[in-house]
Amino acid sequence: MALPKIDVPRYPVTIPSTGEEFVMRPYLVKEEKVLLLALESQDTQQIAMAVRNLITSCIEGELDIDTLASFDIEKLFLELRAISVGDVIELNSKCKECEHENPVSVKTSEIKLTDHDPDSSTIRLTKDVGVTMKYPSAELISSIDAENLDSVSGLMDLVSGCVNTIFDAENVYDVKKENDKEVQDFIESLTAEQFQKLGEFFVNIPRLEYNLEYECAGCGHKNEMELRGLASFFT
Ligand SMILES: [Zn+2]
Repeated sequence: MALPKIDVPRYPVTIPSTGEEFVMRPYLVKEEKVLLLALESQDTQQIAMAVRNLITSCIEGELDIDTLASFDIEKLFLELRAISVGDVIELNSKCKECEHENPVSVKTSEIKLTDHDPDSSTIRLTKDVGVTMKYPSAELISSIDAENLDSVSGLMDLVSGCVNTIFDAENVYDVKKENDKEVQDFIESLTAEQFQKLGEFFVNIPRLEYNLEYECAGCGHKNEMELRGLASFFT
């Protein structure tokens, strides 16, 4: 006998960086299992892969996940999790005073994505020459080792992966269509000051933020801390 099939509800969802609208369904038990295993592993690559696969399966329509900024993926995941298992995330927070682990709950709907300034992506290097930047994709970030991000070569990889166009008074060059080596040479020919201007773009990238406040059950200390980025809600 064929058992009944359950209709899955669908919810509208907006891509933060582009404003594009899609429809998303909750993840299913079999999909959640994969996610939970990844979270348990505490392995960032494995978690990123699970999150990415979940979003790809649950969003309907033509969404190219590789074009999304990493904060898009983080925000989509929070929304996906909220429609799938509920709006509350339970986590343990270590007291700043006594290190007691306090169970706290955070409402997904109160986790904000910080604002982005669309103008900050155009950076003038000289009077005529400049670049436009795009937000780093999750793929790019995971391709650069976390430790490496603080090094010059890691920063170089990050910056060159995020230059979208290079322009002068006459032309706009789409970096995707240019020779990698030439783009690399262009970036390496910048002065330290110009390179720093590109680096500043990354300081203001939108990120998930939540102000966590609670009184420690162990010592009574009033803790106030800012949780930033998806990982801080799941560790
Ligand atoms: Zn305490």
